[in-house]
This record gives sequence, structure tokens and C-alpha cells, in this order.
Amino acid sequence: MPHQLQVLVHTPVHSQVAGPLTYLSDIALPAGTLVRVPLGKRELLGVVWDAPINVAASTLDPAKLRPIADTLDAIALLNPAWRQLVTFAASYYQRALGEVALAALPPQLRDLNTQQLTRRLKKHAQTAAPDQLNPASEIPSGIDGVALTPEQTQAIAQFDLKTGPFLLFGATGSGKTEVYLHTVQQLLLNQPDAQALVMVPEINLTPQLEARFRTRFGPIFGDNAVVSMHSGMTPAQRLKSWLGAHSGAARIVLGTRMAVFASMPNLKLIIVDEEHDPSYKQQEGARYSARDLAVYRGRLEGAKVMLGSATPSLESWHHSRPAIEGGRYVRLEMPSRIGPNAALPLVRRVDMNHQPKKSVFAAPLLDAIIERIGRGEQSMVFLNRRGYSPVLHCADCDWKSECPHCSAFRVFHKIDRTLRCHHCGFTERVPRACPTCGNPDIAPLGRGTERLEEHLAELLAGVRRPNSVCDQWPEGEPVRIARIDADTTKLKGELEAQLARVHSGEVDVLVGTQMIAKGHDFRRITLVAAVNPDNALFSSDFRAPERLFSLLMQAAGRAGRDADISGQSEMWVQTFHPAHPLFEALKRHDYPAFAAGQLQEREQAAMPPFSFQALVRAEARTQEVAQAFLTAASAAAVTLEDAEQLLPHITLYPAVPMSMQRVANVERAQMLIESPSRAALQYFLTAWQSVLHTTRQQPEGKGLIRWAVDVDPLAI
Ligand code: ADP
Ligand code: ZN
Ligand code: ZN
Repeated sequence: MPHQLQVLVHTPVHSQVAGPLTYLSDIALPAGTLVRVPLGKRELLGVVWDAPINVAASTLDPAKLRPIADTLDAIALLNPAWRQLVTFAASYYQRALGEVALAALPPQLRDLNTQQLTRRLKKHAQTAAPDQLNPASEIPSGIDGVALTPEQTQAIAQFDLKTGPFLLFGATGSGKTEVYLHTVQQLLLNQPDAQALVMVPEINLTPQLEARFRTRFGPIFGDNAVVSMHSGMTPAQRLKSWLGAHSGAARIVLGTRMAVFASMPNLKLIIVDEEHDPSYKQQEGARYSARDLAVYRGRLEGAKVMLGSATPSLESWHHSRPAIEGGRYVRLEMPSRIGPNAALPLVRRVDMNHQPKKSVFAAPLLDAIIERIGRGEQSMVFLNRRGYSPVLHCADCDWKSECPHCSAFRVFHKIDRTLRCHHCGFTERVPRACPTCGNPDIAPLGRGTERLEEHLAELLAGVRRPNSVCDQWPEGEPVRIARIDADTTKLKGELEAQLARVHSGEVDVLVGTQMIAKGHDFRRITLVAAVNPDNALFSSDFRAPERLFSLLMQAAGRAGRDADISGQSEMWVQTFHPAHPLFEALKRHDYPAFAAGQLQEREQAAMPPFSFQALVRAEARTQEVAQAFLTAASAAAVTLEDAEQLLPHITLYPAVPMSMQRVANVERAQMLIESPSRAALQYFLTAWQSVLHTTRQQPEGKGLIRWAVDVDPLAI
């Protein structure tokens, strides 16, 4: 009699098929085998899964079961740890197992048929053999043999001694990357099979890091030892990296959040760089936090986990309190910057209350920028808003450039004279006159990076920089301003090209969004300015101050990294609230003080990390329908079997419109669910899933487009 197999396939999101499907096979295939199975008229990739304990195979009519189509037995099994990671992620983030499992595999495994895949595997087997190792004695102990700093030595000693998880709390420029390199190297030398996973938040940062790892480890472990995983790679590259990791030949996997699901049979170390970065949170499908899964995975597989940041997330910071206060993470501290200009930049606050109304650059800031231009140094100005101006306005009739499809204004982009909605993409040419009253005098309100660049060019028009080449400009050259934001870097390679121009000194002043504040090592920049950071101080999002503080600290960390440039670098902040505690802490570069203040507020308000949250979002053509679904599902929570024990630990808030209420003509509502206990929240969400599914089928679910649960949401 043929065997019955449990197989996970990627089923449609809300098909209610949360678990594996049953198929027939002539031979008993072990869990973790990759197979191809028929589903309807299609043939899909599937993963043989562990048989559920509570389902008796005999309840299914064998006559109705279909046999599997193929077995991909050239690929090793997905091991129990990987399957457990997927199982946990699906259950914790309230998604179907099949969806999570299949999304965690490279797209080509799904898309190629068996013949194509077999060919690919053959080719891979020929090229991916591990290279010859160099004798360990040739390996430098630090960068090019440079000795570790005492702080690095101390951090590594602690890391070796304890099991973790570790939070490496190191200032920007304190040499965290060197600590990562060193710990990875130690591990790979000591354990000939061991693998390490190193995660970074942005695709943009992977080439830099990959180059550094390759230079360092290529000669020791061979070029196939380092692979990357991120969404910017071609499907073929992704398959190649995945196979390398899965076979164990790749010793080091570098990647963005998706890499947390990489199949690595001998995973012994996970590093999460810039662990506070919001991009570790997946914002669609299974909304997982790669950082949190990394910690889980480390415990599951006995791999050490090191989270690193100069401005840790308040959650991680909270976990790294002394053990006696209940902290679970080991904090490793590296407060000092390395190098001759080790001092952190001087933070200067400009009180905009004392500046002429509507001034964009305070006079002292402008002077400071001009002074640097004169010295041949660079400045960086950032503003978190792209485009020319966030809204066009008619002063006569009060018309504003609203998006007809979203609850947002369309942004004025002067360069191509368009009004563009940044939410749904709706784009039109700028009207010649006010569409309502015909007034030809419609004017931009507010300012984005494009306008800031234009304004700065006007202000600096008369300024000359020292001659770099011959004497084409007898009285000095005009100032060179560049802008980097999502608009100027849309095409592949443009960001790299623009960054290269900054690095080579072809730019005097760089204007941009937060894109330029993160990660990049701008060695010749000695002044960083945030022209209008105040919004975040009074945002309805309780995480806004945390994000602002870390952004400003990161930005400040960009300044003054070049050993050749003497003198103090500066971080300027223009604000109407110079005495705000956030800026006070920034001035002292005092993350711990900032964190203490924030955590105290969060504790008093019972906010995360002192409580646990989930959001249910609903989308429909009308706000009423979206809210009615949430309200009905909330009311039905009392029908849960354990309602009496459970509900006292759970707060279900009323359904409200999302802060971006309408996008592309779809109304969006959300409901917050909160509990002081993570376990209670998890238990509730799991039980409540079926209520949500049922409610969808009832009159209250009529007209609903979709709903989704977001566990540990980052934006409320
Ligand atoms: P972080 O990641 O903490 O911002 P990096 O790892 O980029 O810091 O290090 C900052 C700078 O210090 C880099 O230029 C790096 O090459 C240098 N550096 C790191 N460790 C050492 C060391 N032990 N001796 C000398 N220079 C070092
Ligand atoms: Zn008008
Ligand atoms: Zn829109």
C-alpha cells in the first residue's frame, strides 16, 4: 500500500488550509524532502512535513488522494531545526505554514521544473566545491594584522566566555564590524564545518560588507565560502547562494532580513548588525521580525547570537539590563571611537524660535557650511521628505493637491512638473492654474529635498570653493551640491555612482533623506545638519522619538571619520524645542539616558516592551465595512472556549481608521490588541484566528477585501 505523506505547499493566504496536504507516495519519504505535487491543474513545489500527531491518516479517503509527481532527491533534506523555525514563525506571526515555508525557499526552486533544476544542481556541484584552506598560521589577528583595541578585546573575551544572546552596544566607529569579522573567523577556524549568518538591514549595505568579508575570508576559506542573500539578486544568484548555504559549502551567509530563513545545517553564529533598524521587520505577508527570529533560531540551534548597534532598539536594550534586574541578554560595551579623530561630533542646537520667520537655514548654520566649503571639507544636510514640496496650495480658494484616491496630498516634483502620490503612485502634470477657481498663482507649501537643494544653491550662489584644478576659475569654483534620495537613485547603479562622487570629493554639500544618514562611511564630511526634525517629537507613533534619536546619532556618526581632516566635526540640529530631553541626550551622545527616559515613559503607559501588541488590519471599499468586520470579530471573542480565563488578560481596543486611512481607493481600519503577557497574547491570537475566518463568512465580512494580523507591529 502506498504511503501517505504530509506535504506543505504554498496555498492561497486565506484558504483556511493552514497545514499540510496529504499525498500518496510509493516510498516513505522523510520529513524535509522537497517534492513536486499536483494541486488542481498545477504542479507545485512542496516540502514533506512532519505528520501531525492528532490527525489519524485513516480519516482521509485514500481513493481521493493524488500521488506526488516528483522527488527532488538531489537536494538534501531540510533539517528539523529549519522546519521548527518555520513552524514557530508561522504560528507566532499567525500565517499559514505552507506560505512561510515556501516563501523561505529561493524562487527558482518553485519556478523551475525538475529537469531544469537537475541541470542547475549539476552545474552548481561542479563549481561549489570548497577551496583549499590556508594554514591557520598565516591568518592575521585583526585588520591587516592590526591589533584589536582593548574594548574590542574585552568584548570578544566576554563573547567567548558566555552563551548570550549578546547585545554589542558600540558607538559608531568603535569597530563593531571588526568584532564581527573576528568572531566569525575564530568560529570558522575552530570548527571546520561551522557556518555563520551575518545580517544587515539594507541591500545597499551588502556590497560594502560583502567586499570586506570576501577580502578577509576569501584567501582563508575560498571564494565559495561567502555568499549573499537579498532581494536585489537575480533568481539564479539566489538559488546558487541558497544551495551553497544548504549544502554547508558556504561558511558565511551575508544577507538582509530574508536570510534569517536560510537553510544552514551547521549554523553556529548569527550576527544582526544595526539591530534597531526597522527594515528587519517584514511589512507584508508574514510580518516577521528577522531580529527576533534570529534570537529564537539561535536558541533553537545552539548558535550564538550577537545583536549590534550604537542605538539599540528599546526592546533589546531592555533585555540587556543586568541579569539581576531580569535582563536576558549580555551587554558588550564599546563606547570609544577608534582613530586620531576619535571624538564624537559636537552637537549644536539652533533655536528656530529666535530665527527670522520661515527661515530654512539659520544664519549660523549657513556660515558654518560656507566655512567648510572654504576649507575644502564636505557637509551633509538631511530632511526626511523627498520631492519639491509636500503640497501645492491655492491661497484664493484653499485648494490643495490632494490625491483623489488616498487620504494624502500629492507631492510636487518640480523637475518633471508633476504631482505624485507617494502612496498609490497616481501622477499628473501640474495644472497651470488652480483646478477649482482658476487662480494661476498656485504655490508650493512646505519643503522637500528637491526644494531644499534649490534653495541651498541660491544661498550659496556667490560662494566660491578653493580651486582644485588649474585656474579655470580665477576667483574659485562654484559650490557643488548633490542630492541623494529615492528619486535620484531609482535606476540601478545610480546610488553607487553618486556615493562614489561624494567619496572622491566631487561634492561640497550633500542633501538627502535618511537614506544618506545610514551606514555609509563618508570620510570627508565634517558637518551634518538636520534642518527640520521636530515632527517626530510629537508624533502619534510612540516609536517616533526612538527612530529620530537613532537616526540623528547615526547621522552624527557619519561625520569626521577621516584621519586626515583635523578639527572637530559638528552635528547641527534646527529645532523649535531645543530643550527637549531627546536633544539634551543627543548633545551628550548619551543613548543610555535617552533610553532610560523613554523606557520610563513606556513603563508608565504600559507600552512595549512592558506590554505586547498585535494589530488586526482590515481593508474594504468603505471605512464602515472595514470597521464592522473588526468590531464583529472583537465581539465574537467571548465565544472562544477559554474566553473566561483568557479575556481578562487581553485588551481589545475599538476599531479605528488607520493613520493612512485611504490608499488607492481602499479604506483601511485597524484594531489594537494588547496584553501584559506575550504567552496570553499568543494563545488568544491562535484561538481567535478561527473567529476571524468565520466572521469573514458572515454578513459583517461582506465587502471586506482583506484582513491581516501583525504581531509586534512597529507602526501603530
Ligand atoms: P562601526 O561598525 O562600529 O561603526 P567600524 O568597524 O566600521 O565601526 O570601524 C571604524 C573604523 O575603525 C574602520 O575604519 C576600521 O577599519 C577601524 N578599526 C576597527 N578596528 C580597528 C583596530 N583594532 N585598529 C585600528 N583600526 C580599527
Ligand atoms: Zn483656487
Ligand atoms: Zn494616492
